[in-house]
Amino acid sequence: MTNSRIAPWASPRAQHRLAEVETAVSADLSAAGVTDTVRNALRAHGTQVDDDGIVLYAGTNVLSPAAAAANLPSVSSRPSMGWPGEKYQVGLEHLDTLEVLAPLLVADLMEGTYAEVRLQSATLANLAVYTAFARPGDKIAVLPEAAGGHASHHAQGVPAVRGLTVVDLPYDPDRLDLDHAALPGFLRVHRPRIVVIGASMMLFPHDVAAVRAACDEVGAILLYDASHMAGLVAGKVFQRPLHEGAHVLTFSTYKSFGGPSGGCVVTRDPDLAERVSTVAYPGLLANYDAGRLGALAVTAAELAERGGGYASACLANAQVLARSLHDHGFTVARRDGEFTRSHHVAVDALDLGGGERAGLLLGEAGVYLSGIGLPWQRPDEGLRGLRIGTQEITRRGFTPADQPAIAALLRRALLDHEAPDRVRADAIALRREVNDREVTRRTP
Ligand SMILES: *Cc1c(COP(=O)(O)O)cnc(C)c1O
Repeated sequence: MTNSRIAPWASPRAQHRLAEVETAVSADLSAAGVTDTVRNALRAHGTQVDDDGIVLYAGTNVLSPAAAAANLPSVSSRPSMGWPGEKYQVGLEHLDTLEVLAPLLVADLMEGTYAEVRLQSATLANLAVYTAFARPGDKIAVLPEAAGGHASHHAQGVPAVRGLTVVDLPYDPDRLDLDHAALPGFLRVHRPRIVVIGASMMLFPHDVAAVRAACDEVGAILLYDASHMAGLVAGKVFQRPLHEGAHVLTFSTYKSFGGPSGGCVVTRDPDLAERVSTVAYPGLLANYDAGRLGALAVTAAELAERGGGYASACLANAQVLARSLHDHGFTVARRDGEFTRSHHVAVDALDLGGGERAGLLLGEAGVYLSGIGLPWQRPDEGLRGLRIGTQEITRRGFTPADQPAIAALLRRALLDHEAPDRVRADAIALRREVNDREVTRRTP
């Protein structure tokens, strides 16, 4: 095997791919050559994913045209440090407009009072919250990984940066939710400083009020990580975490929220807000890329006007897609006969060779999604599930009537073992059909 120079410590599979690309790109490392190589890679990526792909990956989205137009790349390299009125840099008055609009709009949209919008990812947003409310050696309690607890909640992620100990909350795989009977006793034993709920896969809402009551008994801060659910929270169709009792809400701005990449922290409490803000700057950030804020503000304003319709459309698509997959013979996760109340759908892929393998196969067929752990799986089962999100196809114009056609693509690739190339041709045709319909619909 050829070793990769970039990461000789990576897995054999990753090294194989790294070495292959290292060889290919090294053919011409002149500035002109690299410019060409990059341009070609971006063009091919745009065609494959943006133009032709059926993207069902739950952790992504596309910017609206107005938000995309509000992105000015040159702003990213203008550091803007400190509050408007007392910035370290001079001459940035016009950026004050973005720096005021974005937090006002995001806070209102998420039913908070204060929004910290400068952190570049939800991982950093979570680190800011951990740093503000827990000290090294403290404990936090989080959802198990197989129940969608994210790396940024767990010991391999940012809790370790803050020196925190992580314990898994009691979870009920049958209810696909916390074990509410066990929760109060668990918190009394462990006395975590922070309880983190909200997950990378959420088919059903949490009972936030019950978790908050249990947190209050032990003085814990309740953090709801709405990274995946932020677009639905904005649309008020899934749940209203701050209204229902979460102290703090964090989220990624580029998943169901549909904005530029970034992370936010929202709260109603001025003391909590001040502590998070001070950790964010000057604690974690200097230049924070103000270039993102215009697109974030436009996205938030659009969601305030039309987010309810968008979120409802995401849910309607998810429900019909789940039903179609079930009808085609897939094992679709459900609770009491109900598949989902969010834009997520989960397929148990154990019989398909596991979620990772099924995801790779679908990728060859032009349908992009990923594996995910399922709450009822054994540790040795890898990623047992396939996670689907409808937030991007909804924005692309797919309706419930289109979902059986998507389910059929999955069936042909995974159950009928049809050649991926043939499925892919039809996936591309489906994308183009929906695109053409959208263009016609939008043209008066
Ligand atoms: C995706 C995700 C994150 C990380 O978001 P980034 O913005 O990519 O850092 C954090 N928490 C949860 C629950 C997520 O699903």
